[in-house]
Amino acid sequence: MTTFYPGPSKVYPEVASYAAEAVQSGVVSLNHRSAGFTDIVRETVRLLHEKLAIPAEYHIALVSSATECWEIVAQSLTTKTTLHPTTGAFGEKWRDYAHRIRPFDAGKADILCVVQNETSNGTQVSREQLTKWRQEVPADWLIAVDAVSSMAGIALDWPQADVWFASVQKCFGLPAGLAVMVYSPRALERATAIGERAHYNSLLFMHENFLNYQTPYTPNGLGIYCLMRMLQQVPPIAEVDARTRQRATEWFAFFEEEVAHLPFHLLINDPIFRSDTVIAVEGAEATIKTVKAAALEAGITLGNGYGKWKDTTFRIANFPAITDTEIKQLKAFFRIFTG
Ligand SMILES: *Cc1c(COP(=O)(O)O)cnc(C)c1O
Repeated sequence: MTTFYPGPSKVYPEVASYAAEAVQSGVVSLNHRSAGFTDIVRETVRLLHEKLAIPAEYHIALVSSATECWEIVAQSLTTKTTLHPTTGAFGEKWRDYAHRIRPFDAGKADILCVVQNETSNGTQVSREQLTKWRQEVPADWLIAVDAVSSMAGIALDWPQADVWFASVQKCFGLPAGLAVMVYSPRALERATAIGERAHYNSLLFMHENFLNYQTPYTPNGLGIYCLMRMLQQVPPIAEVDARTRQRATEWFAFFEEEVAHLPFHLLINDPIFRSDTVIAVEGAEATIKTVKAAALEAGITLGNGYGKWKDTTFRIANFPAITDTEIKQLKAFFRIFTG
């Protein structure tokens, strides 16, 4: 079965051997404060900086999920409240979570919370837009970015935000249960000024543990090992970025030109807003149902629609672990699909 589900998504096939290695070598049974284990965490953090071109001064912590990162931003980095320019279901979920922890109070916000790639509807916030927000928000504000379905798939403009995070079951091509949180010296200063230490995952507490490549709790050692091995194998992000964008351009042309006769079309009309990593395609409810079922028959899983677009769209992940052969297979399926 070939899967184009945008999360959990296709994992790199090598993950099977990484996991076997982790078990056979005893990595998964190491004490998480032992030198053997912290060496793996140190190497993982080093490789994240290197392969994703994360600025040296930005810190990295590994946590369990992107949802946990939403909570960390609210708990440890928000003085009063957050502002959320939402474009879809994940942005709305983050806003609702954050405001349950730090109730919204117009005029009191000091963090802008942006979902860079809105997985629910295949839109993205452009580099230009993020740069514009960076210039427009008051100087003492932070910007936090959910890049769950784009980090490790496209190059991110790290200096334009203070916090970036992603769970690994999207573009990283790994099983769920681990997330990468990247934060700037300014974010750490804010956390220090707030001094929040009430939670096991308070950012200050996490940060102090990560100075020794440790975590307050027993971490997902198997996931971290697989992340390290995967990072050793992938090309630098500039190369991955070029390939992702090229494939996205080809997908857009495919739907707009080659199979334009089919009874569905790209959900997002304006190319400026289109995601490079998640392609949403819209049609009548019955058509979407038919195409998903026909794809399954052909051995292909298309992503269901999400939230408001649940029944009237399907989604195609354009993640690095997907091969050219799989993309060819899906295009061949659409070419012969007759509705
Ligand atoms: C998948 C996703 C999340 C949720 O990630 P979890 O690891 O389940 O917490 C959050 N934001 C976006 C944009 C996503 O695509």
